[in-house]
Amino acid sequence: MKQVLSVLGATGSIGVSTLDVVARHPDRFEVFALSAHRQVAKLAEQCRRFRPRRAVVAGPDEAHALRALLADMPALDIAHGPQALVEIARAPEVTTVMAAIVGAAGLASSLAAAHAGKRILLANKEALVMAGDVFMQALRESGGVLLPVDSEHNAVFQSLPAGFVRGLRCSGVRKLILTASGGPFRALPLDRFAAVTPDQACAHPNWSMGRKISVDSATMMNKGLEVIEASWIFGVGAERIEVLIHPESTIHSMVQYEDGSVLAELGNPDMRTPIAHALAYPERVASGVADLDLAAIGRLSFEAADFARFPCLGLAYAALRAGGTAPAVLNAANEEAVAAFLEGRLRFDRIAAVVEASLERCPARPVHELGGVMEADAQGRAVARSLLQDMAGVLS
Ligand code: NAD
Ligand code: MG
Repeated sequence: MKQVLSVLGATGSIGVSTLDVVARHPDRFEVFALSAHRQVAKLAEQCRRFRPRRAVVAGPDEAHALRALLADMPALDIAHGPQALVEIARAPEVTTVMAAIVGAAGLASSLAAAHAGKRILLANKEALVMAGDVFMQALRESGGVLLPVDSEHNAVFQSLPAGFVRGLRCSGVRKLILTASGGPFRALPLDRFAAVTPDQACAHPNWSMGRKISVDSATMMNKGLEVIEASWIFGVGAERIEVLIHPESTIHSMVQYEDGSVLAELGNPDMRTPIAHALAYPERVASGVADLDLAAIGRLSFEAADFARFPCLGLAYAALRAGGTAPAVLNAANEEAVAAFLEGRLRFDRIAAVVEASLERCPARPVHELGGVMEADAQGRAVARSLLQDMAGVLS
């Protein structure tokens, strides 16, 4: 039986890698829908190649432009806006959803796939950070399956016992060790952080990614979001998730067992490996990634994570421990701060300050439904925006 796919965020870094793997296995995968935000020309090319039944873009202008580019494909149903994303995530024809929209914008469609009981290949980590409880509950009720695409979580998943069920106690697992490259500023003198530019922050040493996650990697907020993501996917508390710096990004994460064994997944840093793993699970298919050449790499190195250099990491652990609305506020404030940095309105070394002050001003409340999550998201954004305004004169 072929899997029928909706690829949400098809024009992004993960979306493009997904379609690269899909194209290698026409016998296994069929594309039902593709979505993009504003990159209409790129989406048009993808539609020509993969012949989906539906395409979704940001708004009416983009829909009009896509229609003009694809006038010779009249059967293609073109829609726009957040509700159209939800529709392609839960359409009955669809078996599998690649959730690869960046940020909170991906929550509604990722969650719709969870409610509809789909097989969800989750790259959109922000959805779980914001609404982990709601998301996992939706999966339990619908019988949907979450397969982690984020390389660390995919590596942990591969290193856990087969048939692992949420909760580590019966599996003899002591802790999860998430590896982190440390990003482009692992060794940058601290007094140079203030002058970091968006292009410097987006030049990751090992991985090629979208701009938002690249900045998150440079502040290490990405690893913090991943700690929260891991706690939901694997049902573990903050005390059992450790971050370890591993600059080569060859080991993608590890599981430490009670008997002293440590299992890891290794590979070249290319997202097509975890994407192919999630697409084909429990089988294995070719991904186009070159074989790992450990002799050429020579040595692997490790160091402890530096929480003073990367305060965002500690803020994420604190938000996970506080629970409730805190992770949604953390995520919202971070998205606002990163956008401000990318637009030249905020200094790189102040991103953490905006997130920290936002968390202080929005005390954590319990939350078990989407309405509460969206309120926390809106509150976190409003507070972060007002902080950004207050800081504008001081920081630029
Ligand atoms: P990207 O910026 O390259 O692509 C984002 C995609 O989302 C694009 O298709 C864009 O059109 C779409 N999009 C953006 N804003 C939107 C909106 N408001 N509404 C609807 N669609 C919108 O991002 P990426 O690097 O591919 O990352 C996607 C997700 O995967 C993120 O959550 C990221 O954290 C996660 N992730 C990425 C990588 C990676 O290597 N790139 C690795 C692990 C996890
Ligand atoms: Mg990752």
